[in-house]
Amino acid sequence: MKLYNTLTKKIEEFIPFEDNKVRIYTCGPTVYNYAHIGNLRTYIFEDILEKGLRYLNYDVIRAMNITDVGHLTSDADTGEDKMLQGAQREGKTVTEIAEFYTEAFFKDMEDLNIKKPEIIEKASDNVDLYIKMIQKMIDEDYAYISNGNVYFDISKAKDYYKLSGKNPEDLFVGVRDTVELDAAKRNPADFVLWFTLSKFENHIMKWDSPWGIGYPGWHIECSGISYKTLGEHLDIHCGGIDNIFPHHTNEIAQSEAYLGHKWCNYWCHGAHLNDNSGKMSKSKGEFLTVSLLKEKGYNPLIYRYFCLNSHYRNSLIFSFESLDTAKIAYNKLKNKVLSLNRVGNIDYQFKSEYQNKFKEALENDLNTSLMLTVTYDVLKDDRLNDATKFEIIKDFDTVLSLDLTKEVDKKVSDNLEQEILEKIKLRTEAKKNKDFEKADAIRNELLQKGIRLIDTREGTTYEIV
Ligand code: AMP
Ligand code: ZN
Repeated sequence: MKLYNTLTKKIEEFIPFEDNKVRIYTCGPTVYNYAHIGNLRTYIFEDILEKGLRYLNYDVIRAMNITDVGHLTSDADTGEDKMLQGAQREGKTVTEIAEFYTEAFFKDMEDLNIKKPEIIEKASDNVDLYIKMIQKMIDEDYAYISNGNVYFDISKAKDYYKLSGKNPEDLFVGVRDTVELDAAKRNPADFVLWFTLSKFENHIMKWDSPWGIGYPGWHIECSGISYKTLGEHLDIHCGGIDNIFPHHTNEIAQSEAYLGHKWCNYWCHGAHLNDNSGKMSKSKGEFLTVSLLKEKGYNPLIYRYFCLNSHYRNSLIFSFESLDTAKIAYNKLKNKVLSLNRVGNIDYQFKSEYQNKFKEALENDLNTSLMLTVTYDVLKDDRLNDATKFEIIKDFDTVLSLDLTKEVDKKVSDNLEQEILEKIKLRTEAKKNKDFEKADAIRNELLQKGIRLIDTREGTTYEIV
């Protein structure tokens, strides 16, 4: 398997620390709001990486955190905690917000056929571990206490800027929000390991520590959870490109300071999904979520297909026009696969020939669009009977996860059918009374359940989406 390694800026042959075992850590979501489809693009790429390695017979173990404390509104150590902001916005407790959006995230993963990592840890469940790590770093002079907070001294880290390739001079001009000009710091890029109340008095989530009541910084979470769950050596660490600096840079500095040796060999980063305005954001009123796609009648796997058509290291622009194109292509592909006659003898020679082509694309730094091309080639190949084509595509779909061989259950239960017919009646009446708001509400309510109403001259019917 060849992977692009952000650490060396090269495509490299992947060699795990231990035989066939691969330990992967992926940064999890900050659960103060729904994930936008940009965030989910990164999780799709990580899912392909994990399933791809399994396809190549590696024994994979993957861990992910849930960030429910410490991630501030700025990547520098400034601004409010995003979780507090979410709680205030919705008039709920931080715990309620965290639970709600964690579940929503898991539902998004399920809708997109993203496998859940076998290990998922909440940041707030591991504070004792962070305290232990920070204390060791203070004892060994990697960290220092200043103005009540504990900072990591970046001048003690080896090659602090290696991952990001940044030029320290560019960061020190004080115009970037990634580095805070703070008199309490020895170096402007030093970062907080532990905040005390001196900084954010209104922080709700706080713990006792040797340095005062406070809470951990964001970066220490991932170092701590990775170490706890995957041990001292990590094979692959993933995230979106925005995580390279400062988050992953700081993770390396503190993990290597704590462990006393090199920590992770391969760093893989997914490029961003942007909208036409340039950046996908959760702060804009209606941001793009999986639920929104569903409300608009898109099967979430169309979005997965859309992502797989481009390479994870290329940035991708989202528009509904391109999603519509993906929808047509996806439905056509799936219909073609489902129309294959599955009765017949499978030709295993051809299967292995195509598996090799598929592996070649996969091993070439996760070339998903080429993996799709190989899938189309199978369908076009006249030498193959239908049963063989179906068998090969079913095998590819263990990685692609597009449900290409899964029959769609086009039947609704009798109860749901009854409900749909009643709702259609109510909507027709509402339209007659010119109550279009109510009519639209009924249409949207059904769409949420995967039922799209179709108005025809003869009346309203429905389809399952
Ligand atoms: P967050 O919930 O903000 O901590 O981000 C979760 C994941 O989404 C991280 O791996 C980020 O790097 C990634 N991410 C953030 N914005 C985007 C985007 N526009 N496109 C792709 N990935 C993103
Ligand atoms: Zn992280």
